[in-house]
Amino acid sequence: MENNTCSFCGRKQEDVKKMFRTETVAICDECVATCSGIMDKERRSLEHHQIQQGLPKPEEIVQFLGKYIIGQEHAKKVLAVAIYNHYKRIERPVHNGVELEKSNIMLLGPTGSGKTLLAKTLARIMNVPFAVADATALTEAGYVGEDVESILSRLLAAANYDVELAQRGIVYIDEIDKIARKGESATTGRDVSGEGVQQGLLKILEGSEVYVPLKGSRKNSSTDTMLFDTTHVLFVCGGAFVGLVQDKHSKKPNKVGFDKTAKKAADKEKKIEAKDLIRYGMIPEFIGRIPVIAELKELDRDQMIKILQEPDNALLKQYQALFEMDGVALSFDDGAVAAIADEAIERGVGARGLRGIIEGIMLPYLYEIPSMEGVKTCTVTEGTVKEGMAPIYTFEEKDTKKKAAK
Ligand code: ADP
Repeated sequence: MENNTCSFCGRKQEDVKKMFRTETVAICDECVATCSGIMDKERRSLEHHQIQQGLPKPEEIVQFLGKYIIGQEHAKKVLAVAIYNHYKRIERPVHNGVELEKSNIMLLGPTGSGKTLLAKTLARIMNVPFAVADATALTEAGYVGEDVESILSRLLAAANYDVELAQRGIVYIDEIDKIARKGESATTGRDVSGEGVQQGLLKILEGSEVYVPLKGSRKNSSTDTMLFDTTHVLFVCGGAFVGLVQDKHSKKPNKVGFDKTAKKAADKEKKIEAKDLIRYGMIPEFIGRIPVIAELKELDRDQMIKILQEPDNALLKQYQALFEMDGVALSFDDGAVAAIADEAIERGVGARGLRGIIEGIMLPYLYEIPSMEGVKTCTVTEGTVKEGMAPIYTFEEKDTKKKAAK
């Protein structure tokens, strides 16, 4: 007997794209899609349940962060505790009408010190969607530019338009110091509308329901919006706060001798507090919504070297993989690695400069090696980095042959 009718919805073969049959029953493609959607949702809620069950402890979080981020040990601890408590708070409902306030996070530190990377890695540990926004691109409602809701659109997109998932996500807002208001401090704040943007951010930071435009979703037209509750979204703000961080640190030598106890006291002293940020030009209500402050340090030479070599996707490993595809074993001698680190420090953009530096060094060899015959190994030296000398090649038959400097 032929089954020409879906046993679930009753639609006929000719009304659907596809009908799956056994001898006794049939199901149409639309019912399959519906069932699959339901199962997806159940799987996600199960996963979420498992996350909550197995909420990683602060120590485990720090360990995990250590796989990807070099140094910044204090910031890692502060973040681990904050994120642990944040997701605990989500688990617990409001008690006796007492609302547990969430702890958004402020990361202070120079460019390229790992602020974005920390926030992104936290999202990965917690298995939640993650979005990055640039505070300088935001404008007050009604002005040309991105309004604050666009941040949430991005988070929704990162969650594949699963609003429940997005509502537990993490947002990193970069360059938050650039929306400081002018006035109290002459050296800060370059945007007159900064204060307005801070006001705009306030409402999503504290947790509220907002209509979020669904830009970029193929399922929806550009005018569609979705109600989004930001209560459980964790906001991580980052900024260099240049004058502030330096001012505080430069006070150190005046107050300290060289003995260790005094140094410890100074380390405590230089901690940046909410009132410093307010003096910098952040409005008190805004800072009031970001109770956790963690400071990142400028990366030193040793840390740069580690960043080049150690993380799973370390830059040098990436180039080694590229060369390996051409059958060439690439290595960087110690002098080369140190010279790259030094160059990055000189550029003053933290670890962010490393990739550009290596790309500049390696381009000629990435270009010529694929057409060179029989190259077995390629060793990049200090001379390659500093003076553009050719690396040392070894070839399949011949002995080590050092190519003349260009
Ligand atoms: P920031 O947000 O502080 O300006 P990022 O986190 O965007 O800096 O860092 C830029 C890149 O530099 C990262 O993607 C990463 O490759 C590298 N990096 C920066 N800091 C670290 C660090 N502490 N450990 C490992 N890699 C880092």
